[in-house]
Amino acid sequence: MKIFLLHSLIICSLFANAQKRLLPFDSIRNKQVGIKEELIQLKAHHYYIRPTGSAGNIGIFSGKNRLLLIDDQWGILTDRIKGIIKKVTPRKPSFIINTGFHFDHTNGNTIWGAENIPIIAHENSRIRMQKDRELSDPLPLIQKAYPSKALPSITFIERMQLYDDLETIELTHVKNAHTDGDIIIQFKQANIFYTGDLFVRDGLPPIDENNGGDIYGLIHAMNYLINVANEQSIIVPGHGSAAGLKEVRAYRDLITGIRNKIIQLARQKKTEEEIVSEMETFITAGYTSVSKKAFTLHTLRMVQKHERI
Ligand SMILES: [Zn+2]
Repeated sequence: MKIFLLHSLIICSLFANAQKRLLPFDSIRNKQVGIKEELIQLKAHHYYIRPTGSAGNIGIFSGKNRLLLIDDQWGILTDRIKGIIKKVTPRKPSFIINTGFHFDHTNGNTIWGAENIPIIAHENSRIRMQKDRELSDPLPLIQKAYPSKALPSITFIERMQLYDDLETIELTHVKNAHTDGDIIIQFKQANIFYTGDLFVRDGLPPIDENNGGDIYGLIHAMNYLINVANEQSIIVPGHGSAAGLKEVRAYRDLITGIRNKIIQLARQKKTEEEIVSEMETFITAGYTSVSKKAFTLHTLRMVQKHERI
């Protein structure tokens, strides 16, 4: 009996480990060192640094009075990022805004924060950074708690404005979307938006359900963006190249169509396996870093919660 119990325990723990296979954080970081970034000018005073791999875009606004950065990717690469910023201006940043709490947009806080550069984020992002967090698929890994100097020193709840003689910059929180601390940043004069990972250019979006992510909130966030942007807007995603309203509408339609189809299948009392199998053919997105199965299962859980099915 004892042997049987022990055997069962080993199998259970092996199974749990297999289910919870976490990615090695350090090797993702080290891999990024070999990937170069590109500096792209959007308009006068506005640039973004575009890496590939597991590092987010960095927005640069070189205003009349101050330099502002949006996100700061990996701390191990901050010196290289500083070298790119020097091509635009010799100034130090006055503020850094974090679009969310994930490492691929905020790990540079560990360097900039230690240099006393003020960091602005939604209050939930600061709360998430204060403890070890397990992120959801497609990056299942432990993001370690940040040292206090790397935490955002300024937070807000719903909306916040920053001013420069050349710009009014509006930061708006969107509830429970990619995570529970996402913000959309709008440069009102230049008509440029930054979305962080709310908007992606490679198929299905990553939704960090462990940390407050929800497809319903993501659709809501995209509808908000579509309402405040216009045909001339430049919209910079968390990763990949800048886009316009047309691409955001197509993305909103893609995720809304998937959510609506899953509502329909759930109401028809289809099993989880049947829904996953039907969605494999329904989702026509080409390359996607998030698997169709993982995305379907997340959406199904949210549908069951919101629609009470
Ligand atoms: Zn990202």
